[in-house]
Amino acid sequence: MKCTVCNRELKNPKSVEKGIGPVCEGKANGKKVRAKKAKKDKQQLEMF
Ligand SMILES: [Zn+2]
Repeated sequence: MKCTVCNRELKNPKSVEKGIGPVCEGKANGKKVRAKKAKKDKQQLEMF
């Protein structure tokens, strides 16, 4: 099983189960949080 993001061989059984490595998963999560925060900031700007 390889990571679907960076195509590297996964060693961790949990990562294999998810199909994504811990580093790429962290990046994906960070991106998601940032996008959510940006949306919130935009909503606040619209209020003013
Ligand atoms: Zn990866």
